[in-house]
Amino acid sequence: MRAKLVAGNWKMHGCLPDNAKLLAEVIDGSNALSRAQQAVCVPFPYLEQVRGMLRRTRVAWGAQNLSQHAKGAYTGEVSGAMLRDFDCTYVIVGHSERRLLYEEDNDTVALKFKAALDADLIPILCIGETLAQREVGETESVVDAQLAAVTNRVGAKTLASAVIAYEPVWAIGTGKTATPEQAQAVHAHIRKRVARDQSAVAQELRILYGGSVKASNAEELFAMPDIDGGLIGGASLNAAEFVAICKTADR
Ligand code: PEP
Repeated sequence: MRAKLVAGNWKMHGCLPDNAKLLAEVIDGSNALSRAQQAVCVPFPYLEQVRGMLRRTRVAWGAQNLSQHAKGAYTGEVSGAMLRDFDCTYVIVGHSERRLLYEEDNDTVALKFKAALDADLIPILCIGETLAQREVGETESVVDAQLAAVTNRVGAKTLASAVIAYEPVWAIGTGKTATPEQAQAVHAHIRKRVARDQSAVAQELRILYGGSVKASNAEELFAMPDIDGGLIGGASLNAAEFVAICKTADR
């Protein structure tokens, strides 16, 4: 039985006092959970604050990006080992905003995925199609190519140490959510695809849904057999919403 995971992606939001208030409320809410796992992926400068507040709680933490390089003359970049210095468990890799705004292609994402594994971080690999791709029936081929770039580089077995987030680009930050049936269909496809190479890994693989998840739609999404939790953007900045989503995942 796969334990559900709800991971918040704060994106480029926060400041020290607001974070402290948000985290205190998230910690408080996490005390009521028994099975679901929780995490927050925060901007780099707040990792020390988050580590200070979340250690010895049920809430894990991580970052939103990392360099594909281990070290060197890469001004402005942050390595996986640096994230481990702050006891990160997770790192988001290949978020659509990184792919679209910073031109991270499938090969770069695969290298970042490998860099995360090399640093003993759990990559949350984001894959998903744009609206234009969905409308011409390319959803499955797009997610297959995004996944294959990673598995061709590091092998499908490595997915045992990773989490996948299916995030249709058209649903991120737009208020448009994939219907539970639309999301389930893609999640089932991803699991079947992984099972072709690694059936045991596929059964244990957590596939999160991301795209305008809120307390009001989490229940029907999380009820789907292949949806193992959520990657939550906007709603993770609101403690009551985030805690309510986590409680839904705990049922
Ligand atoms: C995200 O940033 O991964 C995301 C899913 O954002 P939102 O929940 O705001 O759509």
